[in-house]
Amino acid sequence: MARFRCGACGREGEFAYDPQHHECPRCGSFDVVFALNIDELPDEFVQMLLQAETLDGEKNED
Ligand SMILES: [Zn+2]
Repeated sequence: MARFRCGACGREGEFAYDPQHHECPRCGSFDVVFALNIDELPDEFVQMLLQAETLDGEKNED
């Protein structure tokens, strides 16, 4: 699920994010901001982000 807020009608809510449908489900405007909540991301994805930072640090040590 992704949070969204529409800049046209002010609608806020949650829905299943679909990259092919960026428009507001209420008014159809494309002036919509999406926000993925990190708490809702899969653990594998969070670990990948954390590991990316770690690898960067290890590179500096070398
Ligand atoms: Zn809207």
